[in-house]
Amino acid sequence: MLTDASPRKSSHSAGFLESDRIRTLDLPQDGHLLTISKSLESAMNSGRSADVRHACAEFLAASSRFYNLPDCGIRVLAARPLRVRENWTSELFGDYAPESMLIRVWMRTAVRKEITSFGTFLSTLCHEFCHHLDYQKFEFHDSWHTRGFYERAAMLHHCARGTPPKKLFWLPTSGGRWRIDWPRTNRGG
Ligand SMILES: [Zn+2]
Repeated sequence: MLTDASPRKSSHSAGFLESDRIRTLDLPQDGHLLTISKSLESAMNSGRSADVRHACAEFLAASSRFYNLPDCGIRVLAARPLRVRENWTSELFGDYAPESMLIRVWMRTAVRKEITSFGTFLSTLCHEFCHHLDYQKFEFHDSWHTRGFYERAAMLHHCARGTPPKKLFWLPTSGGRWRIDWPRTNRGG
């Protein structure tokens, strides 16, 4: 995980810094998300995309209700598109369109068309929902991948899986960006 660089437009940098600063998120404590994520897991095991879509929609509706946000749409698609850049190719896992409040997630890997692992899929869903939160709850002009953004998404993911949250440690890299220090994060300090 690598953060975005700080925006060049100075009118956006206050929002960027605030996004970076907000490292926690109120989380539903009633176990409802965990129940839904378990039905999502069995839907993924069955491979039936209509069931996966239904569970995703339920997950997003429950989350939007908790944060008092308008509902976002969901589209569950099959094989991931490949994003080709000059020197590397990456698979697209999901995206969020702020104008239409639509989340798209891909269920299968690009080349071998295998079903994505449940952990990756749920983490993508939480990541895209956090973009919805950025626009609708925090009212940022953009939804940057800051350290705060990744930490909020990780907290939601742990809540949805019923696993204890892990403190993330960061290392500075070029251009004012940050990446996760995995050895330290996994050691817990
Ligand atoms: Zn993103």
